[in-house]
Amino acid sequence: MTQELHIVGGGMAGSEAAWQAAQLGVNVVIHEMRPKVETFAHRTGNLAEMVCSNSFRSDDDEQNAVGLLHWEMRAADGLIMATADRHRLPAGGALAVDRDPFAEDVTAALKALPNVRVEYGEITELPRDGQWIIATGPLTSSALGQAIAAETGADALAFFDAIAPIVYAESIDMSKAWMQSRYDKGETEEERKAYLNCPMDRAQYEAFIDALLAADKTEFHDGETAGYFDGCLPIEVMAERGRETLRHGPMKPVGLTNPHQPDVKAHAVVQLRRDNALGTLYNIVGFQTKMKYGAQTEVLRMIPGLEEARFARLGGIHRNTFLNSPTLLDAQMRLKSRPNIRFAGQITGVEGYVESAAMGLLAGRMAAAEILGRPLPEVPQDSAMGALIHHITGGAEAKTFQPMNVNFGLFRPVDGLKGGRRGRKDRYKAYTDRAKAAWQDWLGAMASAA
Ligand SMILES: Cc1cc2nc3c(=O)[nH]c(=O)nc-3n(C[C@H](O)[C@H](O)[C@H](O)COP(=O)(O)OP(=O)(O)OC[C@H]3O[C@@H](n4cnc5c(N)ncnc54)[C@H](O)[C@@H]3O)c2cc1C
Repeated sequence: MTQELHIVGGGMAGSEAAWQAAQLGVNVVIHEMRPKVETFAHRTGNLAEMVCSNSFRSDDDEQNAVGLLHWEMRAADGLIMATADRHRLPAGGALAVDRDPFAEDVTAALKALPNVRVEYGEITELPRDGQWIIATGPLTSSALGQAIAAETGADALAFFDAIAPIVYAESIDMSKAWMQSRYDKGETEEERKAYLNCPMDRAQYEAFIDALLAADKTEFHDGETAGYFDGCLPIEVMAERGRETLRHGPMKPVGLTNPHQPDVKAHAVVQLRRDNALGTLYNIVGFQTKMKYGAQTEVLRMIPGLEEARFARLGGIHRNTFLNSPTLLDAQMRLKSRPNIRFAGQITGVEGYVESAAMGLLAGRMAAAEILGRPLPEVPQDSAMGALIHHITGGAEAKTFQPMNVNFGLFRPVDGLKGGRRGRKDRYKAYTDRAKAAWQDWLGAMASAA
């Protein structure tokens, strides 16, 4: 008899994982704690409940990375996308969804499968035997969170994300910014030039602080606590504590010389650090923030060198349980210390409904291949799925790992195309064409392995 696959958490990732594994013929048990145990954000006992916005974001599969992920999930017969398409609401180019019928349909579709069983109840321990996928999401129950922390080490599991904004490198104006590590520290030339620096004079700094103090901020959700604050204060809270606080914190200007104006001492310096191995993304160091997205873009573009910045993701602080996946998981999302357990969804350090479902899709197929003893072709890095899983299981900087949305900054560049804003349309089309071909090949290879 083939082994059962146990999936903890019937959210976006767990539901998709269950569907994919069941379609391949594996018997699946979904363990879902709701409605017996509630979270502060969910309202129902349905599987795949959308906890906040009802949008799956852009549906443009030629010019948008999340739209491409939609395309890849549809091509893989994904349950979440097929159900979202059936309950689509008018929303321009975005895929908005009628949330309750959507979740009810996902629940019904899974329960209708003869090889899927749903068991309601909280799992509080890490299982020793059997094949498991843990997809308990950002609001993983505290008992299970503690069990995971005990296995991985507390430092490797976060309970909040404090996300600094991430900028596309190509959108930074290098006629104002420069590369240099503070005091030129480092053994190699690369390390001595590890940071990208944006200088401010006094007037620019004062205007920036004014804008920061005046900007609209988001409130905490009920049930979120602010107990995380000490290690990672939002920049606007630092500014509230005193106008000079940032200049003595993440914006301190010491140990840096601006090669564009070597005789002028900057009043403050904003530093950005490489965020991925490809060098296409930079995070703004220490700039976690609760500013609303619109206000955030406006305020950050006041930084000299970032006037035209495009953001791969904006900053935020949320209740979010997630692993330091680059150190803990192997390329198939298995916990290195206990390979009978895979993780999937937001807990692996992706962010968003679509990305979470996508990682569920991969985990479900990977677990099924292992249970059925079938070969699993390597997920192509040029697909959106591959770019994302590669990022979380190895491409991202482990030390500064924070949750990530899918975006073109995670993709390997296509040779021979024009950089900058003007070449963007052709570049994105080239990425999406290449991704679709690679993903189709992978699906074909999986089908022939069956
Ligand atoms: C307040 C809030 C607002 C958000 N807003 C958005 C948004 O607007 N757009 C967006 O794209 N993303 C949003 N997110 C992120 C969103 O939750 C995730 O992207 C997505 O739901 C994650 O999918 P998942 O399957 O990993 O987790 P979930 O969908 O949360 O599913 C996890 C499931 O595991 C269950 N569970 C937890 N612990 C246990 C346990 N010990 N035993 C058994 N079951 C358990 C939970 O009940 C839940 O059903 C938000 C998150 C939060 C917390």
